[in-house]
Amino acid sequence: MPIYEYRCESCSEKFEILTRFAERDRAQVCPACESTRTRVLVSSFALAGGAESSVSDFTSEAGGGGGCCGGACGSSGSSAN
Ligand SMILES: [Zn+2]
Repeated sequence: MPIYEYRCESCSEKFEILTRFAERDRAQVCPACESTRTRVLVSSFALAGGAESSVSDFTSEAGGGGGCCGGACGSSGSSAN
């Protein structure tokens, strides 16, 4: 299970909770003040997703250049097929 980081809006406490993805958006109880006014913080996974466009752009550019080098060859081949 992934670890999500939450921030308490009552006392600004930050804490991490190991939970299922389905329960990520559920309000967790703050361990410091026991408030449920908590929000899940943007995880590194979400940040990676935001940079996905630039990553795919780079991949297609490498494939168009005909650079058959390592893993790029396999991924471009499967998508072209
Ligand atoms: Zn709190």
